[in-house]
Amino acid sequence: MTQTKYFFFLILPLLSLVSCKDTNEYRVGSEFEVYVQRFETEASARGRTFDTKATGLIVEFADLKDNTAGLCHYEDPIRIEIDKTYWNAISKTAGSDLMKEDLLFHELGHGLLGRKHLNDLLENGDWKSIMCGGDQVGDRPWNINYRGIRRNYYVDELFNESTYDKPEFASTQLLVDTTGFKTSYLKSFDSPDQSGWALVDNTKYKTSLVNGRLCFQSKVDSSYMVYATISNPISNLSDFSYELTLEYPSADQTNQYGILFGTIPGGSDGVNDPIEYFTLNNNLKMFMGNRTWYSYYTELSESSIVAAGLNKLKVFKIGKMLYYFINDVYCYQSEMETTTVFNQFGFMVPPKGTVYLDNFKISLNSASSSSSKVKQNLQIEFKVLTTDKFDKNKVNNQ
Ligand SMILES: [Zn+2]
Repeated sequence: MTQTKYFFFLILPLLSLVSCKDTNEYRVGSEFEVYVQRFETEASARGRTFDTKATGLIVEFADLKDNTAGLCHYEDPIRIEIDKTYWNAISKTAGSDLMKEDLLFHELGHGLLGRKHLNDLLENGDWKSIMCGGDQVGDRPWNINYRGIRRNYYVDELFNESTYDKPEFASTQLLVDTTGFKTSYLKSFDSPDQSGWALVDNTKYKTSLVNGRLCFQSKVDSSYMVYATISNPISNLSDFSYELTLEYPSADQTNQYGILFGTIPGGSDGVNDPIEYFTLNNNLKMFMGNRTWYSYYTELSESSIVAAGLNKLKVFKIGKMLYYFINDVYCYQSEMETTTVFNQFGFMVPPKGTVYLDNFKISLNSASSSSSKVKQNLQIEFKVLTTDKFDKNKVNNQ
């Protein structure tokens, strides 16, 4: 008898809890609130009305497994879980506001817009939709270049799947003029006076000239950022191009090698410095990003890469955009993240990797170079810095 009483004492309140659950409950953690409100504002700008404070929504932290950043539960109200570890990790890096918006908008896309995953690609290889996720496509990471001019496209696409089949940034045609650039810095590596970097052999690396190329052989397990400091810093208002031909003759298919430019402060470990990078691997993948960010913007498959062979990497910076070329084939455009003057240009060497370099060349647009009296082969100071791997992070599934 006592037991029965006790049973009802326990069960009845539980039953009443379930049956009277508030389907309009609004419980959104303070960290997420700004993104939910932004979602409603963007919806309203596109003729859609959401008022989750009235209709209910739950967004809460969770401990998600399997590299999952967020999960949407189709309950009443919609309940979204965000992985706390991932959230805290991206919070420490530049671009976290956009990465958080991407994550919340994606989950709200499931919950409020009823959208499913869409893993199609645009012409240039970018993910077509902010709704990319779920079942892996090949082994491509979920990194999406949700920045700059792309952000508006992705938000438009989120609210209207049929919008903008071909955004201009995704065109494989180069739509800007890359003529009028004049060489300001050039190293051919054809002779010792053209080597730039000191030719040394120490416990960490060896530099030598081999058949008209600079050979950089790493002896350590970290990546190397090897760079030159030019005497006339480049303003973020100036247009320039930077090119370098690299060869990483290795069976290794995962490590990245390529070019970098930006600012590395003295005494830095180069991990979170505002360094732009453009790298490849021997699995025909291309990466681009800035080291202040959590990870590269996106990973692209590029048939113009020659696996383990010669690859001429070139970027043009025109206006706010960087235009990326591999072996003279235009591949991609994206905003440059660095907004200050900078004076360092270099390359990246994989752990214990040997890379051959040829034709290090920086050119300035003639309009900007005429005012700054650029001469051929101005003095450059060459440096070497070990850092952690460039593919340290990947964006989690959502
Ligand atoms: Zn999803």
